Amino acid sequence: MRKLKLALLAAALLAAAPALAETTVLKGMTLIDGTGKPVQPNAALVMTDGKIAWVGPAAQLKAPAGARTVDLTGKFVIPGLIDAHVHIGIMHDVTQDIKYYTRDNVEADLKTYAAYGVTGVQVLGTDKDLVFDIRKQERSGRPHYARVYTAGQGEVFKGGYGGVFGLNVPVSTPEEARKSVDEQAAKGVDFIKLWMDDERKTIPVKMTYDVSKAIIDEAHKHNLKAVAHIFYLADAKELVREGINGFAHMVRDQPVDNELLSMMKAKGTWMVSATLSREMAYSLAIMPWLNDPFFTRGVTPGTLAALRSMAREQAVVLGPTRFPGLPYEKKVFWDMDRTVFQALQNYQAMVKAGVKTGMGTDSGPNGRFPGFNAHEEMQLEVLAGRSPMDAIKSATSDNASWLGDNSVGSVEAGKWADLVVLNKNPLDDIRNTQTILSVYIAGNPVPTVWQICRDRPAGACTGSALNAPDMPY
Ligand SMILES: [Zn+2]
Repeated sequence: MRKLKLALLAAALLAAAPALAETTVLKGMTLIDGTGKPVQPNAALVMTDGKIAWVGPAAQLKAPAGARTVDLTGKFVIPGLIDAHVHIGIMHDVTQDIKYYTRDNVEADLKTYAAYGVTGVQVLGTDKDLVFDIRKQERSGRPHYARVYTAGQGEVFKGGYGGVFGLNVPVSTPEEARKSVDEQAAKGVDFIKLWMDDERKTIPVKMTYDVSKAIIDEAHKHNLKAVAHIFYLADAKELVREGINGFAHMVRDQPVDNELLSMMKAKGTWMVSATLSREMAYSLAIMPWLNDPFFTRGVTPGTLAALRSMAREQAVVLGPTRFPGLPYEKKVFWDMDRTVFQALQNYQAMVKAGVKTGMGTDSGPNGRFPGFNAHEEMQLEVLAGRSPMDAIKSATSDNASWLGDNSVGSVEAGKWADLVVLNKNPLDDIRNTQTILSVYIAGNPVPTVWQICRDRPAGACTGSALNAPDMPY
């Protein structure tokens, strides 16, 4: 009898014991922790149940019993990248339509971001409500694809630019705007997005300042940051005065001036996503990366075929009329060269002035590619004069700070183990962020771009993580 009781007790204790912690040790690598601190050679870190339990010099490592150890001697570890301006789930090959926004398509995009080492994305205003389920699931566990931060359905002015046809409900008065922001807040958005643009005066109306003021004010009442799509310097100034928290694009109509820079500094306004790679993409008749395996592995065969076609080249060169059903011509490509250089110049001025910057690409829509563009964006930031260290910082800890999420964005004890392991040193050459050996999200290893070959058999793709990247700029 006594024996039986003991056996029952033992069984009960076993059942009550927590599952053994899953622990992985990475050691021997050079660590670039994302905070901007000097690199730490011969570092080590301990990941327990998806979080960084310890990080420091390999010499001081006390590996827990039973831990799996990965020797990363000669490799480089950076935090998972965060892209602060994306759109997900809206594309099938090169066709954009909200009807493609399904759970499968959204997850396929989030996996593609992850494959490129982008472990977090801020979606700016084009999500259907199913994003909230995905986000909830991610936040209640350890995700296997990029973390989502969402602005739900962004605020579009009636008849004006922005949003996705069939999703965003336009507003035309301050009252409607406040009500719309209230609805988004009730859904649990992370941010409020607004569009203020007239596509180079090809659209007869643009969001009015009384409406933007109402949106920003209402967002702040809900303790939400407001982020704006802009193009013009004058609008940027007005929005800063109205209290906007961040810009989703660079000023592109003319050089920024001291008035804007000093206002942004004084108010702590962010340039969250300069989208330099977006402006670059628009200016190219022939994309120079169409045969680069770092690119081709992450896009569908249908996308590749369309991008390589003569029809696309002609469309870009001649300046297409987009959205042919609209009652006015939208010729948008005609002076994109000027736009990309204006954006680069203004980015340079903002960095020099000490304006807070994040990294964002506006990838998702046609011509801007999930994950791939994040690496290009950092290359363009360096082209504009930033150090590789600062480019990495803006894409990691700075973006986490913008998101207000201190559980990600740097390789420090207590944070989620969202990591990218590189074969080559990104501080020697920012293009080395492409030499991805492995990616972890909450300690889960996920397939990298060098392991996937989207919608094709694995053997159909070429290239390796060890190849020196060969980009044209
Ligand atoms: Zn966008």
